[in-house]
Amino acid sequence: MIARAMSAQPQPYAVEPFHLARQRGNWRGRIRLSQFQRLAQLLAPVDPAAPTSEADGEEAVVAVQLSFFQDEQRRTHVTGEVHTQVYLSCQRCLQAVPRPIDVQLALCLVRGEDRAQSLDAELEPFVLDGDTVLVADLIEDELILALPELVCQDRNCPSMPAMRYPAGESEAELEQGDNPFAVLKHWRKPDPDGQ
Ligand SMILES: [Zn+2]
Repeated sequence: MIARAMSAQPQPYAVEPFHLARQRGNWRGRIRLSQFQRLAQLLAPVDPAAPTSEADGEEAVVAVQLSFFQDEQRRTHVTGEVHTQVYLSCQRCLQAVPRPIDVQLALCLVRGEDRAQSLDAELEPFVLDGDTVLVADLIEDELILALPELVCQDRNCPSMPAMRYPAGESEAELEQGDNPFAVLKHWRKPDPDGQ
């Protein structure tokens, strides 16, 4: 049974995982990135004035493909793939850097915390309060966990520390100086143009 297949819409999608699992159902769709509120807080602010590269004017989406099923112990599982591209702020160069995020999802759905605790250790529980859950809620934690810690890979960050030193002086030369604050003095020296 195919539950749904549709394009991104502003309404949040809800599914009934226990029901879907009994039917071996699938869910496939695209969810707007802006519907993941906790994830959005971790992303670089989008500059509306900045030109978007490929999909002009199209809002970023998360492509989702989920399969629901029961195992022989009648536990409810969801597995699937989630793909999106996000912009993350690099701590070093402060640029918004695009990074693809691909998640392989495998959750065991349970009703109530106590059932989650009694689950086998190799299963990752997802606790539901009722029979329905928003697809976005189901996958948001997994997306957050998949965010890279290092936004710019060391070699392609344009603000590697060595590049911040004034021209002609290498990092090593500066470190050999008597006064470690000489670097700061250099930084603070006002520009003759007053900039
Ligand atoms: Zn960077």
